[in-house]
Amino acid sequence: MAGAPRTVLISGCSSGIGLELAVRLALDPRQRYQVVATMRDLGKKGALEAAAGEALGKTLTVAQLDVCSDESVVQCLSSIQGEEVDVLVNNAGVGLVGPLEGLSIATMQNVFDTNFFGAVRLVKAVLPSMKRRRQGHIVVVSSVMGLQGVMFNEVYAASKFALEGFFESLAIQLLQFNIFITLVEPGPVATDFEGKLLEQVSRAEFPGTDADTLCYFRDIYLPASREIFRSVGQRPQDVAQAIVKVIGSARPPLRRQTNARYTLLTALKAADPSGRLYVRIAHGLLFRWPRLLDLCLRFLACGCPGTRVWPR
Ligand code: NAD
Repeated sequence: MAGAPRTVLISGCSSGIGLELAVRLALDPRQRYQVVATMRDLGKKGALEAAAGEALGKTLTVAQLDVCSDESVVQCLSSIQGEEVDVLVNNAGVGLVGPLEGLSIATMQNVFDTNFFGAVRLVKAVLPSMKRRRQGHIVVVSSVMGLQGVMFNEVYAASKFALEGFFESLAIQLLQFNIFITLVEPGPVATDFEGKLLEQVSRAEFPGTDADTLCYFRDIYLPASREIFRSVGQRPQDVAQAIVKVIGSARPPLRRQTNARYTLLTALKAADPSGRLYVRIAHGLLFRWPRLLDLCLRFLACGCPGTRVWPR
């Protein structure tokens, strides 16, 4: 006999991966999940509610949650029966790209407040109940940028590296309580996330940045980034599908990359622990052999290395 539905709390559900994931879980044909789909601004719940359709009010409820606010977290949890969350998905996140010299410390701190401390705040809130019940699953939407750095994404990558270190450390203790952690690591995903960011930065001035760096950012990084998204980017539905699979697994893995087309690049880090191989190849492809980068992206875009969705 099927057990009681598991309560899944997801942050950042007004758009992108969070929205797709909330709807997929709520529409599970076996009704295994009771989804609490949260967002900072309830004024933006229209798209989620429309996508949820008949699941709304049954297997999916919408709640307010700002991951940067202690009060908001307390209030959101108090609306859940027994404050018992079985699966927590830390999805809310913000990006930041641009030359370091032109970014304020306050802007950088906001990235860490949301991406890193936002996840930590939620985990601290749900952990006592998970430990008491000796069960739980914490999913963190990290990124391939939590595994390796990308030019002009220093602060965003650092926030994802911080998540990787934090949750890998925590996973060891939590295994003792039968609580699993999974770091989901998508490559580029075609959501508002990158589009909005790239549009903003293409107009920004980045005061205090030297002419060479600005030129590298605008003439090398931005076009390459657009091309990478176009050729190897996944749809948010693809990432949501990978997360659904991880949540349904009896022994979830600590890490799960979602995009087979990106794994060649992440494999470089494992292949050479000195780091030279990845840095040299990334530098070479961007600055010295742009035609080779173009060829590689065309090869990947044509589907040669296999499926775009991983795991299937
Ligand atoms: P998105 O912009 O559609 O979703 C991010 C969500 O987080 C938004 O709904 C936003 O409102 C919410 N959010 C931001 N600050 C918040 C706060 N303080 N409290 C609550 N919610 C807040 O973009 P997405 O691509 O769906 O991003 C989801 C996650 O995936 C992020 O953690 C992002 O870092 C990660 N990711 C995205 C990509 C990509 O290329 N889009 C790649 C790898 C990882």
